[in-house]
Amino acid sequence: MGSYRIVEKARLDARNTFGVAARAPMLVEVADAAALPELFGYAMLREGPVLVLGGGSNVLFADDPAGTVLALGAQKIAILEDDGERVIVRADAGVEWHALVLWTLGHGLAGLENLALIPGTVGAAPIQNIGAYGVEVGEFIETVEAFQRDTGQIKRLSKSDCEFAYRDSLFKRQLDRWVITAVELRLPRQRELKLDYAGVHEELAAMGIATPRAVHVAEAISRLRTRKLPNPAIVGNAGSFFKNPIVPAAQALALKEAHSALPMYPGDSEATRKISAAWMIETAGWKGFRDGDAGISAQHALVLVNHGNATGAQLLALAHRVADSVQEKFAVALEPEPRLIGARWQSS
Ligand SMILES: Cc1cc2nc3c(=O)[nH]c(=O)nc-3n(C[C@H](O)[C@H](O)[C@H](O)COP(=O)(O)OP(=O)(O)OC[C@H]3O[C@@H](n4cnc5c(N)ncnc54)[C@H](O)[C@@H]3O)c2cc1C
Repeated sequence: MGSYRIVEKARLDARNTFGVAARAPMLVEVADAAALPELFGYAMLREGPVLVLGGGSNVLFADDPAGTVLALGAQKIAILEDDGERVIVRADAGVEWHALVLWTLGHGLAGLENLALIPGTVGAAPIQNIGAYGVEVGEFIETVEAFQRDTGQIKRLSKSDCEFAYRDSLFKRQLDRWVITAVELRLPRQRELKLDYAGVHEELAAMGIATPRAVHVAEAISRLRTRKLPNPAIVGNAGSFFKNPIVPAAQALALKEAHSALPMYPGDSEATRKISAAWMIETAGWKGFRDGDAGISAQHALVLVNHGNATGAQLLALAHRVADSVQEKFAVALEPEPRLIGARWQSS
């Protein structure tokens, strides 16, 4: 049996990086995942709505969550296997993601360097298959350990079980079914570094690094991210608010013909292309826009920001205005990346 702590009417303002006011009827802080089977024995958790909350860096509280909020606190990182070339590292769900990146680099392991400085917890990383600078976490995941709510058992899912895709996974499609308790990653000691992504070469050159190692790439990317993205400790945000739309190739080419500067990337198959949401939002004139305390970052058009006291509902209303105008101008539907609590996304 593990340990947990229950807080009633818990404030969540400091538990979401938008910094919006929200309150949970009940917050359960779980220090040890071994407590989950016992906790889910209680009807309120077994039958009621449960929101698993990590660092709150990918959620927007448009309203208070109904039911119980569960926060996992376990913090262990350990090496499970080491064959000299590759190492399996296990981290508990409550570990801060960037702390794990630094830990692996400190142990001479490569792989996670491009994912440096992404906010949030290890437990949330598989949910949307976090990605940045040309790398996704799914590439390195060996096993995800998760409590399965409908069977009451801890299950081990292999990488292929997890069905990773762009900002997507099995877990994201079945949010009410899984509580991720730990993640195991297979990391190489050596690998060809991925440097061909916006500004990485230039940043390494500015750092005076001619033959970079993984640790230098993490440093370069941390510097780039710090410059490019607003810091949630200063202005509330959840990183990119919209996903880059994946559209049929023919539609992407027609858009490119009409707007030659539109950035376009490979899609999830030959028949599709991913197009830049940031470019469309900026071109539609939203970058730096502000309505009360809800705004679009002047640093990055993809980032919805809370300048102070915006409510989640106000932020969501602005997101809808932005999506509607992109729909009108480019005939492309934008979808939010963060999980919306207490509201549904209304496609334009
Ligand atoms: C400044 C900034 C930059 C960002 N940059 C990136 C980026 O480059 N790439 C990227 O992919 N993301 C980025 N994000 C989004 C965010 O950091 C990631 O999605 C992160 O994985 C969320 O972690 P979290 O612990 O805060 O999750 P939360 O926001 O707490 O939760 C997110 C989702 O995961 C679920 N969840 C959380 N923990 C668990 C668990 N243990 N078991 C089951 N479900 C769980 C929640 O219910 C929710 O649906 C950024 C966010 C910010 C604020």
